[in-house]
Amino acid sequence: MTSLTRQGEIPRELIQLDARASSKEEAIAQAAAALVAAGCVRPGFEASMLRREAVSNTYLGKGIAIPHGTVEDRDLIQKDAIAVLQVRDGVEWNAGERARLVVAIAARSDGHIEILRRLTRLLQDEDRLAVLAATDDRQALSDALNGVAAGAAATAEPAGDFAQSFDWVLDYPTGLHARPATEWAEAARRFPCRIRIRHGAETADARNMISLLSLGLKSGDAITVSAEGQGAAEALATLKVTMTGLSAREKADAARAEEKRRATAAAGGWVPPSSPRAIEGVPAAPGLAIGRITRIATDGMEIPDEPVELARAADLLHAALGQTAEQLHSLADDTARRLGESDAAIFRAQAGLLADPDLITLASQWLVDGHGLAWSWHRAYEDMAARLSALRNPVLAARAADLRDVGQRVLAHIDPRFARSRLADLPEDTILVAEDISPSDAAGLDPAKVAGLVTALGGPTSHTAILARTLGLPAVVGTGAVVERLEDGACAIVDGHGGRLYLDPSEADLASARDWIAAEEARRARAAETRALPATTRDGHRIDIGANINLAEQAAFALGQGAEGVGLMRTEFLFLERSESPTEDEQAEAYAAMARALEGRPLVIRALDIGGDKQVAHLDLPREENPFLGVRGARLLLRRPDLLVPQLRALYRAAAGGAQISVMFPMVTSLGELLELRATCERIRQELDAPVVPLGIMVEVPSAALLAAEFAAHADFFSIGTNDLTQYALAIDRQNPELAPEADSLHPAVLRLIDLTVKGAAVHGRWVGVCGGIAGDPFGAALLAGLGVDELSMTPRDIPAVKERLRQSDRAGLRALAEHALACSDAEAVRALAAEAP
Ligand code: PEP
Ligand code: MG
Repeated sequence: MTSLTRQGEIPRELIQLDARASSKEEAIAQAAAALVAAGCVRPGFEASMLRREAVSNTYLGKGIAIPHGTVEDRDLIQKDAIAVLQVRDGVEWNAGERARLVVAIAARSDGHIEILRRLTRLLQDEDRLAVLAATDDRQALSDALNGVAAGAAATAEPAGDFAQSFDWVLDYPTGLHARPATEWAEAARRFPCRIRIRHGAETADARNMISLLSLGLKSGDAITVSAEGQGAAEALATLKVTMTGLSAREKADAARAEEKRRATAAAGGWVPPSSPRAIEGVPAAPGLAIGRITRIATDGMEIPDEPVELARAADLLHAALGQTAEQLHSLADDTARRLGESDAAIFRAQAGLLADPDLITLASQWLVDGHGLAWSWHRAYEDMAARLSALRNPVLAARAADLRDVGQRVLAHIDPRFARSRLADLPEDTILVAEDISPSDAAGLDPAKVAGLVTALGGPTSHTAILARTLGLPAVVGTGAVVERLEDGACAIVDGHGGRLYLDPSEADLASARDWIAAEEARRARAAETRALPATTRDGHRIDIGANINLAEQAAFALGQGAEGVGLMRTEFLFLERSESPTEDEQAEAYAAMARALEGRPLVIRALDIGGDKQVAHLDLPREENPFLGVRGARLLLRRPDLLVPQLRALYRAAAGGAQISVMFPMVTSLGELLELRATCERIRQELDAPVVPLGIMVEVPSAALLAAEFAAHADFFSIGTNDLTQYALAIDRQNPELAPEADSLHPAVLRLIDLTVKGAAVHGRWVGVCGGIAGDPFGAALLAGLGVDELSMTPRDIPAVKERLRQSDRAGLRALAEHALACSDAEAVRALAAEAP
């Protein structure tokens, strides 16, 4: 490291407050003179800075300019340093660009990157920049340029601890991987102080996810967490809660993974009869696939270097980063609903990578050196991914794929020419072979075309492997580069259970593999038979089982899993990930298509639930301080007839066309809202001469549960949204990772609200369903059935286990379980009942 990053303070004489400069040249001359006077550079440095200006624009944006010398003149630098010129009225740097903070950089090597990293952070904090451009406080400027530094790699930090600290032994069974690291970094970023994590002699900046991952922490590793500066004590306390609070989830995840692994092992593997040539890898997703190899280059893209003005590049990059973050958040929400929260976490962790100052700094450095934006960005994420891969740590190798994935997304926003389409036209029965494949690409693979997946890099815990398992795609990872030289079109067999790719299989091998696949399919079909049985308790009480799906295409899978209908169709998804609202016609067709796919089975369609965590950019809704407590769900619908009326017209048109549907409204909190919504429905129904459809409400807020009997007089049914009911009953933001372990829907307070809802519904003979996440948990489902809920609706893949659990119970036992749970005083006590539950 250079002295620039070690010095901590910028000497007084190198910070000039309220400087006057009538031109860029004059400002550069003053900065250079200060650097010369301080003995940091030789006199020729001023001319070197002017030469740099002639070939590149050093205006970084937002009133900051960073004049510096040319590479050839580096020997003029005697000591790495920066000189700051505060020009309150600004000095014209280029036409239309005024610099108010001139940060002259004299750095021989990586010091340049370090200062850019600090500045790029500052660039994102406009309020702070405005203060700095006018302050009388030299220290504030010095602190700003030092205090925002974030260590790049673990090795970039000196190995000492700060004054305040605590020790902890990591007890996450799979070590510190991206998901908890993101949550640590997010917690750390909430505080202005410096927070360091030390393991032995290695240290990392707690705000920086990559830096944290670079420590390669395993379960049992002892760490010291220390902090210095404003809010240090509070930051340490928060971080401790975050770190220890995640232990339970990490252990539960690992136990589930282990359980899955054992089950897979017990299922037995396949042995080819004639020992064909095999490439060994790591089993990533079980199953056997026969197909033909299609190799894809991971990133063979040639990115032309087309220089662009630096300020414009900074703006474009800023916009592309914002768009990508938004896209990843929508993708995470969509994935959470389609595949589950743990798959969605992949994209939330990826969004964390975008906030990595190192990546932005690397890109800025290439930009400042005069390269094009797309080129600089591509080079930055590729360099960083290569650095991670080179560390030969499987966790970091997996992150390299994530980094490339995120990098390519940003690249596509910078310039749509670089959007990928390489996986669009794959032939059928493809065995996809690649150096690595990104989670986005994996999520988008068409299982009808792709039979199996083999990658040279990656590990079994990589997000790609997780997604391959979700898609039911046999996969082998970590084979090494040998697979990249395989011949396109060659026949092969992927054994995702044994972790091998068999080449040139004989007829006997192929026949044996086909038999194995057929036997496996028969086994699955037998399981599907029991999935298809109703959830009837041993004493003959039946609970209806629905699926939570959003698109007609998902219906076949849901029915195959044993769904008896759809208990929740979230219509927001027709509005998300597109640039305008769907028309009334498009909506009517989507609802009718879902009804057709269900062939007369029950279908509950939820009216738009926009707001809270489901933001739709093109609706341009006003920003709210607390969106979960704001104009959300039914409140929004009542204020926006332009959304409500077309949706209701589309729903009644579908009903008039023969669709058997029920409609429910989200986030209803008062009776007045329900009555107004009903009146609008009736008006539209009459206008369209459509049949009456059952109109229900979601019970998602305590007020609806407490007044259930009153609501039941006017609602045809209730569906309890336990995700929101838990959030509002316990006052825990459902997106807050720190509080996630406490947001337990089995909390007795939530169960008592459900009990009240069921009792209130009974006053008017209404049915009650539950469509929140807890309905898909076998123990939760048993409790809900014991509370008297009539219907449970869940993610399709949760259905078989829930049905099985209910079929093994009898009603009296379930009721007794529910009574016990209602009498508990906390969620742990409720969960403890699982051990002795009927
Ligand atoms: C719920 O809140 O439990 C629910 C099912 O609705 P959503 O998750 O869409 O808010
Ligand atoms: Mg909800």
